[in-house]
Amino acid sequence: MVWNFQDSYTKLPSIFYSKVNPENFSNKKLVLFNNDLAEELNLDFNKYDDDEKCNILLGQNKLDKNYFSQAYAGHQFGNFTILGDGRAVIIGEHITKNNKRVDIQLKGSGETPYSRNGDGKAALGPMIREYILSEAMHNLGISSTRALAVITTGENVLRDKLEPGAILIRVAKSHIRVGTFQFGSLLKNREEFHNFISYTISRLYPDIENNNNKYLKFYETICSSQIKLVVDWMRVGFIHGVMNTDNMSLSGETIDYGPAAYLDEYNPKKVFSSIDKMGRYSFENQSKITLWNLARFAETFLHLIDKNEKISIKKIEDILNKYKKIFEQSWLTMMSMKLNLDTNYNNEEVIKEFLDLMHIYKLDYTNTFLDLENNILDENIFKNWMEKYKKSKFRNFKNINPKIIPRNHIIDQIINEVYSGNYSQLYELEKILKNPYEKIKNKKYIAQPLESEKVFETFCGT
Ligand code: AMP
Ligand code: MG
Repeated sequence: MVWNFQDSYTKLPSIFYSKVNPENFSNKKLVLFNNDLAEELNLDFNKYDDDEKCNILLGQNKLDKNYFSQAYAGHQFGNFTILGDGRAVIIGEHITKNNKRVDIQLKGSGETPYSRNGDGKAALGPMIREYILSEAMHNLGISSTRALAVITTGENVLRDKLEPGAILIRVAKSHIRVGTFQFGSLLKNREEFHNFISYTISRLYPDIENNNNKYLKFYETICSSQIKLVVDWMRVGFIHGVMNTDNMSLSGETIDYGPAAYLDEYNPKKVFSSIDKMGRYSFENQSKITLWNLARFAETFLHLIDKNEKISIKKIEDILNKYKKIFEQSWLTMMSMKLNLDTNYNNEEVIKEFLDLMHIYKLDYTNTFLDLENNILDENIFKNWMEKYKKSKFRNFKNINPKIIPRNHIIDQIINEVYSGNYSQLYELEKILKNPYEKIKNKKYIAQPLESEKVFETFCGT
């Protein structure tokens, strides 16, 4: 047996999930397979051919057929909605040799009770995007759900045009979201919700299970991991694009890469997502939205923080104010490190001026920091700034400024190639992105896009 499944979620009250049978596709093809991740998870696929691999990855050999989709709710662009896994099915919780539990989820395997008007399917392009973007995130040292494989289903799905259908095999510490708590808080049966909260704490944060102040500690732990995540995103120029409360995972992992993108030229107000007309989830807004989402999260279990609601709200407000400051401080520290400045000093002025120049002159967010490290910044732009910079105190930081990020125009080119049957660039990029802090030989993948290559909008791909 490849998998070591021991399911726990299905022991929760049944309102939290629905049993689902994923469709069986006859014409499957393995497009991407993550050997490194398979090894990390102690999955030995060596003796299987691609066909058998696909069957195993899709959970088709599982005896108990205990597949399920999760129920949740969420604020989507500020509006509260009941949702659920509309195109995702967990085939099991795999336990590694080190006793780590991970959800193995199929994304795009067909309709579920939560599909609403959707077809429950996914197109190959967006699944390749998620595979590349999420693995890049992980290799950049940033917490993320992982991608184990992409399998094409052999059927077409209708999006703007017909596209090849595909399934992503996603791995996560758990898929419990802020939105799952929002869903639970609506239940009339409080006990069911309390069971669910206890389950979440013992699954994700067992260290605080016996803490006297467990719920407040749990809340702070989530605040801390989310703020850290946003600072990490800002380090590498990542825009999530749909920071709805249903896309904020309590495991602290970056989740759901629909319209997500890495910045080319620096613009703090940058938005890629075609549906984000107001810039709610713009690059610079990500910390504010995180705090907004965290406030919605607190609302779901205020009654457990303190019986007196006013006291409870005050405690939450204090934590949110604290994390607003922690974000600002962590961001300054991170930016100081990007500029190789001693973090014991206040470098705010020199950081902000550098960012302003990058913004005004539309410079590349990734490459400009590397140019500074290599001493090849454009003199005409940075001459005065350099005078100030040289007066600072320096330190050398490693693994802070990536030498490569997965750029939109490259991913678009690669998907177009895949659609015409050519996979070589996809496999090349996948390999290069495993070591984003090492020197990159193929300049094509690191150059910023020409005007004609720029991608201005990204789509959820649903
Ligand atoms: P997202 O913004 O991608 O996180 O998705 C928001 C909601 O739409 C979630 O409940 C998804 O499960 C659902 N959804 C997205 N794509 C589809 C689809 N093709 N079919 C059914 N439901 C979908
Ligand atoms: Mg989602």
